This record gives sequence, C-alpha cells and structure tokens, in this order.
Amino acid sequence: MNSFEFHNPTRLIFGKGQLKALKTEVPKYGKKVLLVYGGGSIKRVGLYDQVINLLNEIGAEVTELGGVEPNPRLSTVHRGVDLCRTNNIELILAVGGGSVLDCSKAIAVGAKYDGDMWDFVERKATPQDALPLGTVLTMAATGSEMNGGSVITNEVTQEKMGWGSPFAFPAFSILDPENTFSLPKDQTVYGMVDMMSHVLEHYFHQDPNTPVQDGFCETILRTVIETGPKLINDLQNYELRETIMYCGTMALNGVLSMGLRGDWATHNIEHAVSAVYDIPHGGGLAILFPNWMKYNLHVDVARFKKLAINVFHVDPAGKSDEQVAEEGIAALRAFWTSIGAPSRLADYDIDDSNIEVMADKAMRFGPFGNFRKLNKEDVMEIYRLSL
Ligand code: NAP
Ligand code: FE
Repeated sequence: MNSFEFHNPTRLIFGKGQLKALKTEVPKYGKKVLLVYGGGSIKRVGLYDQVINLLNEIGAEVTELGGVEPNPRLSTVHRGVDLCRTNNIELILAVGGGSVLDCSKAIAVGAKYDGDMWDFVERKATPQDALPLGTVLTMAATGSEMNGGSVITNEVTQEKMGWGSPFAFPAFSILDPENTFSLPKDQTVYGMVDMMSHVLEHYFHQDPNTPVQDGFCETILRTVIETGPKLINDLQNYELRETIMYCGTMALNGVLSMGLRGDWATHNIEHAVSAVYDIPHGGGLAILFPNWMKYNLHVDVARFKKLAINVFHVDPAGKSDEQVAEEGIAALRAFWTSIGAPSRLADYDIDDSNIEVMADKAMRFGPFGNFRKLNKEDVMEIYRLSL
C-alpha cells in the first residue's frame, strides 16, 4: 500500500424518514439557504414541498435556483454564485442527483472566490474556502454526496471536466432510499453503471498488497450485479433501492482508494464525449469501459483474471489467463447490455467525425491514467473500438 491519510468530513444521514434531519442540520449553518434543484423531478414527486415545509418550520429564508441541467453548466454555476452574493447565503442545500450536487459544490467554492469559478476547473487557482453545503440525494450514482469531487461543463468552450477540493465535501448528506423510488429505469441503470465504473476505476491500479481494497471492490460489484436486475423490474422496492444507494456512496467516498491510486482514464475519456454530445455519463461509461479494458488487458492480465473469477465467476479450468480475463470483460458487457445500457457510440448516433476533437479534449492536461498512461493515439483507438 502507499502511505495515506483518510479524512471524510461528511455527516452521512441514511435511511427511511431521515429528511427530518434538515431541522437539526440546517440551523447549524444559518438561516439564509440557497435551495438548488434540477429540472423538476423533485416537484413532481412532492419532495420539494416536504423540504420547503421543513425549512419553513425552522424559519429559514429560502432563495431558489432550479433548472440545473444533467451535466451541469458553468452558466448555471455563475447564476448560483450571484444569488449567494446578493442574498448573503449561509448554506447551500442541494436536492437532486449528482448534477445538482456537483453544481452546488461549484457554487459553494465560487461564492468565496473573487475570480471565475472555472479557474478551479482549469487548475489556475485552488479553492481556499467555501460556503457550507448540505445535500438530499435523489439518485444513486456518483458518490458526490460523500466526496469532494464535481464535474462541470463549460458549454461555451464545450469542455466537461472534473475538479475537486477538500472544501467541496458536503457538510451533511441525507440519503433516504425512498427518494429514489421515482427514478426511471434508464436513469437507474445509468446510476448503477456509474457506481460500478467508480469501483472499476479503483480496481485497476498498480499498487501491490491491496487485498482488502480489492475485496471491497469485488463485493460492491457482485452486489450491484445481484441487485440490479431485480431492481429494474421492481423500482419501488425499498431494500433493493437501499442496497444500491449504499453501493453508490461506498463506491466513491474514499474508502476504496485508501493506499492506492486508481486509474480514472475512462472517466476522462467519457467526459470528453459528454462535452461534445451531452450524453448521460453512465451511458457513456457503459460503452467505453469494456473497450478500455480490452485495450489494456496486456498491462496486467492477472488483475483482469482476478476480476473475472471473483466477480463474474468465470471458471478458469483449462483456459489460458488471457482467455479467462477476456471472458470477464465479455461478462461485464453482457451484464450491462442485459439491464439495458448502451454498448456502442452509434447508440447515441455518434460516428467517427469528432474522434480527434474528443481526444484533444481528453488530453487537456496531458497523458493520463494511473494503471496505464494513455496518449492521444490510445484515446482515439478506444473511441474507434467503441463506435
Ligand atoms: P443527474 O444528471 O443528476 O440526473 C439525471 C436525471 O435524473 C435528471 O434528469 C434528473 O431530473 C433525474 N432524476 C434524479 N433523481 C430523480 C428522481 N428521484 N426521480 C425522477 N427523476 C430523477 O444524474 P447523476 O448520474 O446523479 O449525475 C451525473 C453527473 O454527475 C454527470 O455530470 C457526471 O459527470 C457527474 N459525476 C460526478 C461525480 C462526482 O464524484 N462528483 C462522479 C461521477 C459522475 P431532474 O433534473 O428533474 O431532477
Ligand atoms: Fe462517474
């Protein structure tokens, strides 16, 4: 293992009926609240009214920023920063999926910075402070509820990039699986693909002696594989939603990365696709990840073999290591296809015309990937494999 420090400051408040914790959490930070939400799902299902009622009970003064886009945009972040300044906001409350949470993180650091928040995404500056952030999660996917990461799209330059800061961790996150009951099947699938991809990004690393971390990863993957097919046929099953919600948080809250550096190339490659075509993050990952795996199989066949056996129960008898590893990758593809995830860029009507444009965007900060460094030609080849 590498040496590491672990500190996760987010208070995780998990379970049925936990929304009422807003009444004890919000007053810790102040009365002036910026309520951030997405395109309207929280209004349709009544969650908006529940949140407003609780905020009214504690006498909070609420300013609203609705309409945060999936793949949240920099212009929306700017609107939020302005609202924080003009209304002397003391706490940002994000109610929604990863996009709403990521946008709120960007607003939280942007409100305490004199320049343009995009400077943080471009690594021109580092956040030194942030407004406190609370979240009510409505979609299991990103892990944003318990990490300091965020992904923002600059719609003018067509760039989509991740950034992170210790200041971007939510102070508290409320996770009631019932708040994910209304999530439609396709988004439920995208969420499961995203959390599995986060686990896989951790699993492909070059650090020796990580048996516990590998085991945690394998357990989460097996659990999503067992639970996912049941859930998509029973979307309002509390226990299935609960299991998946917990998997999503554990997949990217820092626990899996203790002592190792995960790869993260596929996320970068996917962000470049979403930047140009505005496709769902989980859909893009489902297309790209098996192809990243095929492309990098030779780097460490034993690791791919371990995944195949421990997660996909591939029987190694009489097979070469490479065969076992390839069967594991095929099993991952088959699983994602079976739950309705896309498998080719053509599924989103994406052809080869922008491969180089996307590769240039992915290469923005130079060669990337900790399992194997990829250069532009590598990235273009992975796109070609994915057409
Ligand atoms: P999302 O973009 O937040 O939401 C997708 C869609 O699901 C939206 O249309 C939203 O509708 C709807 N939705 C959410 N909850 C719902 C519910 N309970 N019922 C009905 N509809 C609901 O999806 P996401 O996958 O959570 O977030 C994706 C973003 O996160 C991408 O930009 C991705 O790059 C980023 N990401 C971040 C991290 C991180 O660590 N921070 C990691 C991976 C990916 P409404 O808008 O109407 O609510
Ligand atoms: Fe992701």
